Amino acid sequence: MPSFGREHLAIPGPSTMPDRVLRAMHRASPNIYSGELPDMMPGIRRDLKAVARTEGDVAIYIGNGHAAWEAALANTCAPGGRVLVPATGLFGHGWGEMARRAGAEATVLEFGKRTPVDPARIEEALRADPSIRSVLLVQTDTSTSVLSDVRAVRAAMDAARSDALLQVDAIACLGVDRLEMDEWGADVVVTGSQKGLMTPPGLCFVFFGPRAVRAREGLDRVSLYWDWVPRTAPGAFWQNFCGTAPTHHLYGLREALDILVHEEGVEEAWARHDRLARAVWSACEAWSAGGGPTLNVADPDHRSRATTTCALDGAERLRAWCEERAGVTLGIGLGMQVEGAQQRSSPDHFRIGHMGHLNAQMILGTLGAIDAGLKALRMPHGPGALEGASAALAT
Ligand SMILES: *Cc1c(COP(=O)(O)O)cnc(C)c1O
Repeated sequence: MPSFGREHLAIPGPSTMPDRVLRAMHRASPNIYSGELPDMMPGIRRDLKAVARTEGDVAIYIGNGHAAWEAALANTCAPGGRVLVPATGLFGHGWGEMARRAGAEATVLEFGKRTPVDPARIEEALRADPSIRSVLLVQTDTSTSVLSDVRAVRAAMDAARSDALLQVDAIACLGVDRLEMDEWGADVVVTGSQKGLMTPPGLCFVFFGPRAVRAREGLDRVSLYWDWVPRTAPGAFWQNFCGTAPTHHLYGLREALDILVHEEGVEEAWARHDRLARAVWSACEAWSAGGGPTLNVADPDHRSRATTTCALDGAERLRAWCEERAGVTLGIGLGMQVEGAQQRSSPDHFRIGHMGHLNAQMILGTLGAIDAGLKALRMPHGPGALEGASAALAT
């Protein structure tokens, strides 16, 4: 049974894109000096800010998530500046490494790979070193699928009387896991286009509030490319991108924001992702009861709605079966078997991406393919996974 039929990429980014987004990009090059494209920008900014729940500003760059990390650091971090990086997986270490290479003094606080950050330890670290200028927090670490509590980290920072900026990596989960940038006290939020925002990889976004503006003003110099000031200057579209604008991506993004903000609604999107994630968790719990795929994060309150990491001996065989026989590509395990930052694939883990333009039939298809693969490969697993998933979707 080869996999004729439409393929599905069930990895944690790039996510499934609406055909409407792709169609919006399929067009001749637009005028970049005046007219429709420049006129679209205020609405794009307004809607991006609605997704991040902020009254702050947003700078748009050509780049992936790593570029957003770099952009945030370039505008907030002086050479030798101290940053604290709580890590719950590969991506925390990655942001810390990016900070180090940008000249910061980065201290990583390791929280393992299965549990969220512990705000008490962040408070302790900030009390011990009042010179820390930023906390770089990954909300959903996509390697482990651990979700950390942004609000609780802000409370810990306040309790420590720290004036550090709270910078949040929401690359995996903006538009998926709830995030209230202003209400929760985040000063900077970074994300990319290719996950919850349902647009091809290539754009990234840095949201920033008043305290981050002041940090930027305090720097002696900022890289011309990453400086967020010209990026957010009104009325100068052709200067907002330090070079040619990402014309077609902006058309795709416009369409994606229409869908997310104006048709579905951000809160409804959070609720949809919650239901889909619960279906995945329910299936995994049934499989693991019989020795099959096991959720990496035990406590549902600490699991992301964007992606699920599972432990399974021989996960690579299952991934191959699903791709070759069922047309669905699962995410590889990433950085699970070693402590720290090594970007190694983990053959005994796989991930299911469930962010973006996704509905119940798609998630049931993915779970059904995994269930069939476990049977075909005679891998141990408990019964009732699909029953559990459909029950979760029925609530
Ligand atoms: C995907 C991701 C990144 C990296 O984004 P790229 O676009 O691959 O550079 C960083 N952090 C998190 C949490 C992610 O999910």
